[in-house]
Amino acid sequence: MAPRPRRRRHKKPRSSVASMVETPVPLTLSKPGPSIDALGFHSLETNVPGLSQLILQKLNMKSYEEYKLVIDGGTPVSDFGFRCPQEMFQKMEDTFRFCAYCKALPSGLSDSKVLRHCKRCRNVYYCGPECQRSDWPAHRRVCQELRLVAVDRLMEWLLVTGDFVLPSGHWLWPTEIVQGWDTWFSMRRLQLDATLDAVLGSHAMTTLWASVGRPRPDPDVLKGSLKRLLTDALSRPLTLGLGLRALGINVKKTGGSTIHVVGASHVETFLTRPGDYDELGYMFPGHLGFRVIMVGVDVAAGFSQSTSVSPLEPGTVQLSGHRGLYHNFWEEQVQTGQTAHPDLVVAFHPGFHASPDLMEAWLPTLLLLRDYEIPTLITVYSQQELAASLQILADLDTHLTAYGANPFTSLKPEQVYSNPNKQPVYCSAYYIMFLGSCCQLGQGHLEEKVDGGV
Ligand SMILES: [Zn+2]
Ligand SMILES: [Zn+2]
Repeated sequence: MAPRPRRRRHKKPRSSVASMVETPVPLTLSKPGPSIDALGFHSLETNVPGLSQLILQKLNMKSYEEYKLVIDGGTPVSDFGFRCPQEMFQKMEDTFRFCAYCKALPSGLSDSKVLRHCKRCRNVYYCGPECQRSDWPAHRRVCQELRLVAVDRLMEWLLVTGDFVLPSGHWLWPTEIVQGWDTWFSMRRLQLDATLDAVLGSHAMTTLWASVGRPRPDPDVLKGSLKRLLTDALSRPLTLGLGLRALGINVKKTGGSTIHVVGASHVETFLTRPGDYDELGYMFPGHLGFRVIMVGVDVAAGFSQSTSVSPLEPGTVQLSGHRGLYHNFWEEQVQTGQTAHPDLVVAFHPGFHASPDLMEAWLPTLLLLRDYEIPTLITVYSQQELAASLQILADLDTHLTAYGANPFTSLKPEQVYSNPNKQPVYCSAYYIMFLGSCCQLGQGHLEEKVDGGV
């Protein structure tokens, strides 16, 4: 069936939903930047003046542009100019050193003062007891969660070095039973126990904790962290699977099915390995192949650029990328038949609710997906973002088919880096699916459902 482009007038998104949510800017060890786009990077300055310069200095770089160049080239993290792991971990930790209350950086302190971390979470710093006391009413709400963040960002290193290999292989249970993490963990329990024990006893784990300048936590704490990291890595492929399932997409199409990940950036492509989406394949036994194409201006340069239309091997998952804006990609690649038409389009945290600029950038893509009636899934970080995004999509007359809490959300908390006392968020915590136009749910109905908890 040929797509029917339709010209529709769309209402402008309401200003009340713009700028209401601060996009989190997690700084993680494995990706010392992919999580920070230019926008987020410069916004650090608003919260902690001087912080972006401090990060560049600690990472041995002069400017955001240089930093991006390194990331684009896919240069391994270990080549950032550090002499040994201790130095690298130290410099990484230094980028977290600013007073969480008065925002003072080490360079701005008098000689008698040093920044000391909160003893409970080892994540935020204070220039003195007065600041720590004054900050406690705000910090106490997040201290426990930030403690997990501080462990996870060190443990993430084991994923980068390949010392923590995610459990893989065919699903032992029928796919309908595995509806979320609880059942997924039960299904993989035996295999996972063996994997986690092996990582805990590994030389890499010993080296890691010997290098970071803090005591090694208990095995249960480390296992909890590895499990969170695992959900973080598998959340994306399994969320694609959620979309395929919920939108009823045929995965036994001759030649394979095609999924476009729109607005993909370093987060999706830097350090992403060919097998990273295999779990999607295991979710659909007997599938005839998945072609996952990451499209975005910030797709890492080293990422495979092959977007051919040749039929896939049944049972395989092929990952590739395309650098550019989606509506251009659509015109140049999809409409000319050089790339397969998508069966599903997914955008992880498009963030169009966050600012008028982002909305402007996303508008052509959203209208295209609506008018060509492409089954689409987007994810957001929080319930507040869910409400704002639903409002925008309703204003655009999209036909919302489902939304709610994502059963395959990442369980790894993400700290808002320059504003640590802000409630941590979780990647792809909520999803929205839409198909074509004509909103069938009234606005009042939407608000009621969102407020009532989804
Ligand atoms: Zn202070
Ligand atoms: Zn704390």
